[in-house]
Amino acid sequence: MTSLDKVLRWIDSTRDQSTQKMARLISQPSVSSTGEGVKECAKILCDMLKEIGLDAKIMPTAGLPAVYAERIVPGTPTVMFYGHYDTQPVGDLNLWVTPPFEPAIRNGRMYGRGTGDNKGQLLTHIIAVDAFIKNCGELPCSVKFLLDGEEESGSINLATLVEENKELLKADVCYYSDGPIHYSGRPQVVFGCRGIIDAEIVIEENMRDCHSGHYGALIPNPAWRLVHLLSTMKSPDGKVLVEGYYDKVRAITPAEEEVVKDIPFNVKDYFEGVRHPGTGPEWDHVDAMKAHMFMPTMTISGLVSGHTAEGMATIVPYKATCKMDMRLVPDQDPDEIFDLVEKHVKKYLPEAEVIKHGKMYASRTDLELPVSKTVIGAVAEAWDADPVVVPLSGASCPEYVFSNILEMPTISVPYANPDEGNHGPNENFSLDLFIQGIKTTAHVLEAIARGNK
Ligand SMILES: [Zn+2]
Repeated sequence: MTSLDKVLRWIDSTRDQSTQKMARLISQPSVSSTGEGVKECAKILCDMLKEIGLDAKIMPTAGLPAVYAERIVPGTPTVMFYGHYDTQPVGDLNLWVTPPFEPAIRNGRMYGRGTGDNKGQLLTHIIAVDAFIKNCGELPCSVKFLLDGEEESGSINLATLVEENKELLKADVCYYSDGPIHYSGRPQVVFGCRGIIDAEIVIEENMRDCHSGHYGALIPNPAWRLVHLLSTMKSPDGKVLVEGYYDKVRAITPAEEEVVKDIPFNVKDYFEGVRHPGTGPEWDHVDAMKAHMFMPTMTISGLVSGHTAEGMATIVPYKATCKMDMRLVPDQDPDEIFDLVEKHVKKYLPEAEVIKHGKMYASRTDLELPVSKTVIGAVAEAWDADPVVVPLSGASCPEYVFSNILEMPTISVPYANPDEGNHGPNENFSLDLFIQGIKTTAHVLEAIARGNK
């Protein structure tokens, strides 16, 4: 029996024990937006990591702490596991079938806040590490863990923490599991994510809302002026008209072109419950995937001016506001993009104010690196199915901290069920997928160690 076989067999035979470990983590609240239970949860994780033989410590930040752990096996490559132990708030308690911090098993799933996102998923890596140490005496490669306590609040202190601990956090690859497997039921391996910059445009032209009969012809209307401005920023066919906006968009590589064709994308399923039937645009599969992953967006997320409550009010509003987010791709820099947008706004509407909000950088790891191929191969082996290879997810995450600041390949293999209900009520994690996740991590560790020999 190979050492991997031994490990996999142990993972199956300790299913109940692993499930209890997840229950232990879920019963400790850790809501970063309020801070509820976060420090206590960090302590539990730290103890859990020490218990299996890792050097673990709590790393304070200007906000909530991170948990760090490592076990170095000389002469082996190092895998950095990232995860987050904080959760979203629970929302309306009445919508939960069982209380969010009282883990309950129904239909082969564990229900509770943080099961899928992300305590249950980060635990798979801890248990896989435990499996090797217990059954083989040692790990096949070195591991480091960095568990974020603020991911659900935007990981605001993660970049600083990483900047200040570059030497400590050195590794050959960063691996993490968050989000669901592909909705087609196949596993997915994700090599990056888009960045983001949030901005707000405010134009305040008059001292108060005015009677449109008395003043409508005589004073400027900020709502119209904002609309005119916005029409200079994006064409009706979706192209952003801000000068230089696309200058740094990195070209798609031939390998990315190839894998995009293999990503299942069913227009009907994807827009189910989103678009009204019969409305467009009619997307071609490959074009849709390219627009979704490799191109930046400019989205108006809110537009407010004047009287928006019920009934009419015949006024000239004194102020108009637009909130927008721009999803960015490598190598667009969020601050540079903000500057371009601000310059554009100032050119057309000098009196407008442009306010910068949150940002994240995009991240993209090369599919053709040896470690990329190793991870794809290991996931295929673990699942006995080819994973969907996703060059970039459309959303944004703090992955750039690893790929850009620490300059390591960063690969995500999500383990949760597509209906994990994360951020909502009745969040859950399929126990079969939880166990499959532990096994997948074991395969990945073994493959990375093997790939290095
Ligand atoms: Zn989340």
